[in-house]
Amino acid sequence: MHIGIVGAGLIGVSTALELSLRGHRVEVFDQRSGIAAESSFAGAGLWCPTVLPSLGLHPDWRQRAPWNHWARRQAQARKAPVWRERQQTLVRLGQQGQQWLDALTSSHRLEFEQRQGWLILRPDARSLRQDAADTNHLDALGLPYRLLTPKELGAVEPALQLQAPPAGGLYLPEVRVINGRQLAQQLRAVAQQLGTVFHLGTEVSQIVAGRPATLRWQHLGEARSGETRFDAVVLCMGTASSAALQSLGLRLPLFARPGASLTAPLSLPEAMPDPGPQGAVTESTQGLTLSRLGVRVRITDPWLAPDAQGRPSLRAQTRMYAALERWFPEAGHGAQVQAWQGQRASLPDDAPVLGASPWTGVWLNLGHGDQGSALAGGSALALADALQGEAIADDLQLLSCERWR
Ligand SMILES: Cc1cc2nc3c(=O)[nH]c(=O)nc-3n(C[C@H](O)[C@H](O)[C@H](O)COP(=O)(O)OP(=O)(O)OC[C@H]3O[C@@H](n4cnc5c(N)ncnc54)[C@H](O)[C@@H]3O)c2cc1C
Repeated sequence: MHIGIVGAGLIGVSTALELSLRGHRVEVFDQRSGIAAESSFAGAGLWCPTVLPSLGLHPDWRQRAPWNHWARRQAQARKAPVWRERQQTLVRLGQQGQQWLDALTSSHRLEFEQRQGWLILRPDARSLRQDAADTNHLDALGLPYRLLTPKELGAVEPALQLQAPPAGGLYLPEVRVINGRQLAQQLRAVAQQLGTVFHLGTEVSQIVAGRPATLRWQHLGEARSGETRFDAVVLCMGTASSAALQSLGLRLPLFARPGASLTAPLSLPEAMPDPGPQGAVTESTQGLTLSRLGVRVRITDPWLAPDAQGRPSLRAQTRMYAALERWFPEAGHGAQVQAWQGQRASLPDDAPVLGASPWTGVWLNLGHGDQGSALAGGSALALADALQGEAIADDLQLLSCERWR
């Protein structure tokens, strides 16, 4: 089949690669001049296929519009019994995605920054009470974890500052920490070797469903436009999906949730003992995550409101950097810090829309929220199966866009 993909974030690139591996002729369009330039650019890199209840909406945001509206919808969705079933499906996709990535890593010698282990720190006794909600959820999904006493924290994160020790920690040993943009670049290179064509700097201005399905596009730098017909098109448009689907007549409650990160070189990365986090560490009260990426460390604030300047304000950066100094005082030196702010497309039930759309020839792989990295491979596999008309697992119905119609 000749397949067009709109969006070259981690989801679009993974989908393109899987379809190319199956012998399809694939073309990918992205309005940005490089791949993974929007949501997939600089997130925390956690490969956890499910949300943890304790790391939901920051308490401050629950009072403010439009977040309070979002929080209400999310809380309502989480009460439905099907919510857990859907999370189970995501765990399955996450596991398949990891196997997919491991196989590709060894067959194509992929090289990208990767660590393992996620520690959720409970700074005080009050936050420790949140363990129950998280462990109930992890037990129900069969995901491994360990509850750590303050004394045990140093065994998983040797450089963690323990002079004023946190009350405890929840450790997820199997969660990977991956540089998503670097991975997307590697996957793209393989897809290109297999013949996938990437049209970068090219905005898709119209999607016309049908057999064939048509993408009307415009090259932004060269004032060149055209249209291409495909046997099928897959929309992986991140936060722009909402407007695109609305123009086709489908209103999804997609919400562009903002966040930000700082990425800094580690001071003395070759020092013994290593001064930085070994995997990822999240401070549960603030939600800030410190992730190890090669010889750098990334501090992510999952709830920072967008700043008009397109990067987190100095005040916000200082607050984020303070978390690094608090927990890994020897790790940073404040130089050459890269600041980023971004958004991710999230749905209130914490799950993506994956599979057929109501229109002939148009397929959807979007709305992955905070699980986009963890679900990229599994979503690509499921989408490719469905698009080829293969028998798909019953539980994938839970991710259909029909749930919002
Ligand atoms: C602060 C923050 C932290 C995060 N942390 C994590 C984490 O720890 N773990 C995790 O799994 N996920 C995390 N995420 C979420 C994760 O980054 C996203 O789920 C994932 O990147 C989504 O990938 P995507 O390909 O769907 O979207 P994107 O990467 O946004 O890609 C969509 C692409 O579509 C293109 N596009 C849109 N419209 C058009 C058009 N009309 N024509 C052409 N191109 C178009 C855009 O240019 C863009 O490149 C985080 C996100 C943020 C913002």
